[in-house]
Amino acid sequence: MAFALCVAALQVLVGAQEGRGRGLAAGGTTAGAGRGYPTPEEYGRSKEAQAHAARARAIAGSDAKLMARVENTCGPLGPQRPALEAQNAGQKPEPPRVVEPVRIFDNLWYFGFNTVGAWAIQTSGGIILIDALNTVQDAETIIEPALRKAGLDPADVKYVIVGHGHFDHFGGAPHFQDKYRARVAMSALDWDLVERPNPNANPAQANRPRPRRDVVVADGQTITVGDTTITLMVTPGHTVGTLAYLIPVKQRGQPLTALMLSGANITPDRASLTAFDRALDAAKAAGAQALINGHPGLFGDELGWMDQLRATPGGPNEFVYTKDQFGKFIDIMKACAASRVVAMGL
Ligand SMILES: [Zn+2]
Ligand SMILES: [Zn+2]
Repeated sequence: MAFALCVAALQVLVGAQEGRGRGLAAGGTTAGAGRGYPTPEEYGRSKEAQAHAARARAIAGSDAKLMARVENTCGPLGPQRPALEAQNAGQKPEPPRVVEPVRIFDNLWYFGFNTVGAWAIQTSGGIILIDALNTVQDAETIIEPALRKAGLDPADVKYVIVGHGHFDHFGGAPHFQDKYRARVAMSALDWDLVERPNPNANPAQANRPRPRRDVVVADGQTITVGDTTITLMVTPGHTVGTLAYLIPVKQRGQPLTALMLSGANITPDRASLTAFDRALDAAKAAGAQALINGHPGLFGDELGWMDQLRATPGGPNEFVYTKDQFGKFIDIMKACAASRVVAMGL
């Protein structure tokens, strides 16, 4: 019973998160169980929530970069996509535009839009794509040319791992599945989500091609291509089967672990908070030092950081934290997520 309710509530939440109009992310004030976020009033008057937020600030201490994360993360809505932040502030969001591909790490590129992207990981045995933008047309006209520009051959794409079952992440996956026989991986619950008709979809969205169910990702599973093994964890919240990833990358020759949170850090209930805590603890144990997300701007000025890397490829890489700093960032994310859950009285 609780599960069914939760799924229904999350679908509403998801509609709002994907910018389809009304709802929770815009206002954060919808009443009722499983609504995703506390109201600002609930957040402000919950002593327990305020204690978690104070703990997050204490962890950041005098580190300005971490304090900026606290400001962004410790509130009733948590980290929000810039488009939603603009919407919440009554402004018009910046329209989507295609950005130049950017090499974030030696073996990892970002392609796509200012609002949503896809990532390519180069391995000794081919390419792993993470997400595939909105449509098959995006795959043909944005991802393929971007791969070539990066010196990569689209025919070498072995896997498309889809972080969660929303069209802005799986849209281009059928292209790689059909044209290059790439495997497509997603969690079981999000394969269900992709296959289920969405009553909120407009006709173009409803009729778009969907990937055929292929690799079903279980929590803690790894996917290996060539010399690269990615660890996948299921972190429900944004959708019921959203994935988090631990990705081995190289920063100018030095190995480093990057954490990807496909559905930001949305924890609408206790079960979700527990799953996130587990994934974040695993990232800390792995010594992770960078955080990436399908929607730039959630966890810092990521578009600005990308511009800087394009302009000065050998210059500073703001995606990289020290291990100690990133461990603190993880503790901040955990405290801030807990603050939202307790403010809802959960
Ligand atoms: Zn989504
Ligand atoms: Zn999305």
